[in-house]
Amino acid sequence: MHEIFIQTEEQRAILDTVSRFVDDEIRPRSAELDANQDPEESFSWEIIEAADKLGLRTMTLSEDYGGLGADSLTTAMVVEELAKGDLGISVVLAQTLKLAQIMEKALNDEQKERVLDKFIGDPRCCLAIGITEPDNASNYFLPYPSPFRTTAEKSEGGWIVNGMKHFISNGNRSGFYLLFVQTEKGVGLAEGSTCFLLERDRDGFTIGHVHDKMGERLANNAELVFQDCFIPDENVVGEVGKGFSVLAKFFPQSNAYAGASITGVAEACYAKAEEWAKIRVQGGKPLIEHDGIRAQLAEMRMLIDASRSYIHRACWLADNQEHGWDETLGALPKAMASQAAWKIATWTLEIHGGHGYMKEFGVEKLVRDAAAFLHSDGVNRTLFLKAANFMYGMPDYE
Ligand SMILES: Cc1cc2nc3c(=O)[nH]c(=O)nc-3n(C[C@H](O)[C@H](O)[C@H](O)COP(=O)(O)OP(=O)(O)OC[C@H]3O[C@@H](n4cnc5c(N)ncnc54)[C@H](O)[C@@H]3O)c2cc1C
Repeated sequence: MHEIFIQTEEQRAILDTVSRFVDDEIRPRSAELDANQDPEESFSWEIIEAADKLGLRTMTLSEDYGGLGADSLTTAMVVEELAKGDLGISVVLAQTLKLAQIMEKALNDEQKERVLDKFIGDPRCCLAIGITEPDNASNYFLPYPSPFRTTAEKSEGGWIVNGMKHFISNGNRSGFYLLFVQTEKGVGLAEGSTCFLLERDRDGFTIGHVHDKMGERLANNAELVFQDCFIPDENVVGEVGKGFSVLAKFFPQSNAYAGASITGVAEACYAKAEEWAKIRVQGGKPLIEHDGIRAQLAEMRMLIDASRSYIHRACWLADNQEHGWDETLGALPKAMASQAAWKIATWTLEIHGGHGYMKEFGVEKLVRDAAAFLHSDGVNRTLFLKAANFMYGMPDYE
């Protein structure tokens, strides 16, 4: 299992490229974009197009489909590096990279032919996944036996979808979606839902409200609204009624990618805290020469290293499941990394004293960003319950 403890030469070369991209394209623009009042104006196609030129939008597709064939471990490294520059950009690309990787595995040959060429050829084509709806969120993570409210009724040659999803990352910015919808009445969402491939231009599908997020603002989140939207049979992914098998089978590294994004924010906080501790003098010497501060910086370092190791192990095992993948790795690494990032962000604020509270020092944005993954990709407490259900079985719920 040595692969997860060292960076290969190829990974180092990719990360050097990403690091330059972060310095040239993201850092100079991130604060200004973040400050826009209108969430849609915080999104930058220029940055996504520049990422595309470097292959960062499509790198998880195999070379046969025009990608770089990046494995999950390399992808997590890239996602973390991007988030050191800005969490939102990391999330736009992480969602797209994750879903491209899943689509290549989960779509049938005819669907891949229809979708992947268009995806690779359009530098603005992002990808999204629609599961969460106002009444069903932690419910599907655990899962409780309630049905999705977004339903599909069978009609000739396809399905008529009605309902809505919310909080969807890239919801208003994507060319293709994986959408999870209730197709069978009288059973819960785990037994009666189906995964559909959805194209942006389908009649009856519109984008609703674009959410005004606290942080991660360079990524957009939106509602997906369905009013008698016809989706043809050819767009069923996997089998009807087996949407949750698609989730279970093809999403093992999703949680770890979320953890990698938030670890990038933790790194950015740590760098800022260390820099400030070196220049700020109190008590006659720089903060970094005071024991309390030095110990806190070392604790930050420990939390980042431990989170990253957990994430890398989950990614490597997701791709090499025969070596001991276990389902808790699909729930816990993000919970650990986001708790660590939140602690590190608040400590960074503390180390900056009053300066941290003033927007011009840049800590305030990092604190808002650091909160993002306490809830996104599953609320942490819900993920602990999910892991416990794997460990001890699911209790009976009525
Ligand atoms: C930035 C962001 C991006 C997102 N992107 C996407 C996306 O791309 N696609 C998508 O489908 N969704 C997305 N989501 C949705 C996300 O997965 C949900 O917000 C998350 O699952 C939490 O759901 P909720 O907000 O409805 O909270 P709830 O499920 O209502 O939970 C509220 C609180 O109750 C607790 N709770 C719930 N059930 C139990 C229980 N049984 N026992 C004890 N406590 C419980 C939770 O832990 C939490 O503390 C995103 C969310 C955010 C914030």
